[in-house]
Amino acid sequence: MIRPIVAGNWKMNGVSNSVSEINSLKEKVSSPSNCDILICPPATLIMAFSHILKETPIELGGQTCHSAASGAHTGDISSEMLKDCGANYVITGHSERRMDHGELDKIVKAQTEAAWRAGLKAILCVGELIGERKADLTLKVIERQLKNSIPEGATADNLIIAYEPVWAIGTGLTPTVDDVATVHTFIRNNLIETQGQQVGSNMRLLYGGSVKPGNAKELMAASNVNGALVGGASLKAEDFAGIIAAYE
Ligand code: PEP
Repeated sequence: MIRPIVAGNWKMNGVSNSVSEINSLKEKVSSPSNCDILICPPATLIMAFSHILKETPIELGGQTCHSAASGAHTGDISSEMLKDCGANYVITGHSERRMDHGELDKIVKAQTEAAWRAGLKAILCVGELIGERKADLTLKVIERQLKNSIPEGATADNLIIAYEPVWAIGTGLTPTVDDVATVHTFIRNNLIETQGQQVGSNMRLLYGGSVKPGNAKELMAASNVNGALVGGASLKAEDFAGIIAAYE
C-alpha cells in the first residue's frame, strides 16, 4: 500500500503575513490524515513556517535547488540551505523552472542528486507541452524526461515523480481521468523497468495541473495516482484542506 502525499507549491506567492494561512491550515489538518501533507512556500518563508508547523503532520519543501552545496551562484539556493531551514523535500524540474530558467533534463538530474546529498526527498516533475500532446508525443516526452533526469540511486523513499501536463498548470484545464491513468500507468511500468520492481512499484506518482477540491477525489482515484502536486489551490487553506479531504 503506497501512502499518498498531497503537496502544495506556492510558487512566487506569500509574504510574512501568510503565516495566517498556514495557521489556518494547521488547525484544519491537526489530526493525522491518510496522506502525507507538504507545503513548498517561497524559500523566504520556510524557516518561519517550520516553527509554526513543528509537531504537526505538515512538512515543508523548497521549490528548486542549485546542484552545488554553496559558492558563487548569485540568487540561488542549495539543498543544504533548504534542509537547514526546515525543509524535507524539494521540487525539481518544475515546468516553470524548465521554461523560465532553461533547466534541461541534465540540470534537473544534478539538482535531484543535490537534493539527496542534503537528505531531501525530491519531487521530480515531468509533463508534455500542448503541442506535444496534440502531436501524440506525450509518452515519448515523458520517457525522455524520466530517462535523462532520474539519477542513479533512486528509491521509493528519496524520489517522487509528479506528472504535470504543462497545458493543465494554472489553466483550469485537466486531462480526463482515463488520460491521467494512461500516463501514470506508463510511468509506473517505465520505473519498474528502469529502477527495478521494488523501487518502481512503490514510488509515489503525483498528478498536478488544476487540481481543486471539486476534482481531487476523481483524479486521485485514477490508477497509479498516489497524490497531488497543487499550485493555485494550495494558497488558500480551505481549498488545500478540501483536496486533502479526497483521502478521508
Ligand atoms: C503546479 O504548478 O505545480 C500546479 C499544478 O499548478 P496549478 O495547480 O495551479 O495548476
